[in-house]
Amino acid sequence: MRQEAPNPRGHRPPTAADSAVSSSDTPAGSRFHNSSGTRRGSLMQEPVLVLNATYEPINVTAVRRAMVLMLKGVAQAEELHNSEVHSAAHSHRVPSVIRLVAYRHIPQQSRALSRKNILLRDRNTCQFCGRVFPSSELTLDHVVPRSRGGRSTWENLVACCYRCNNSKGDRTPEEAGFKLARRPRPFTLHTSRQLMRLIGHRDERWRKYLFY
Ligand SMILES: [Zn+2]
Repeated sequence: MRQEAPNPRGHRPPTAADSAVSSSDTPAGSRFHNSSGTRRGSLMQEPVLVLNATYEPINVTAVRRAMVLMLKGVAQAEELHNSEVHSAAHSHRVPSVIRLVAYRHIPQQSRALSRKNILLRDRNTCQFCGRVFPSSELTLDHVVPRSRGGRSTWENLVACCYRCNNSKGDRTPEEAGFKLARRPRPFTLHTSRQLMRLIGHRDERWRKYLFY
């Protein structure tokens, strides 16, 4: 299986399900605000597990996006947070897990290949020196450099600190005398579940859908 970045959705016209599995933000959600004020931004960015109509976990989105999908009738809440947000006329419990109302076929290519997901897979660990860094201090390294035909795929991208990235330069790990901490794993259903568990590890409402 091959995936090309940065266009994981391919060339199909976008659908509601695509929107649901995208992590992109939407200004439409700005109609909501949180009563507490101080946590407003962060609450709207909290992760929400997205289930297909069949209860299969398909991705993670932000509260803001999840609430827009609920308002549009595309999704409904399966699990709720205790927190509320307020729009002009109503209070809404914040969803923790939502489910698409209609089943959507999610092609494998649409599973997001993103910097965030690669860093999650590699647990913010530079795959060359083995040290853990904050996301801001990590970049993505093409194991086989792009100049040598290395592609932007799950199998050829790893988390890498700037220092290792600079000293590796335009070389393969062998040429640079580097050893990969772990062979980068391709994207599988297992990777997908693992990423969702890592994102949702603080929210026990996700557990029954992710089997852990
Ligand atoms: Zn490093």
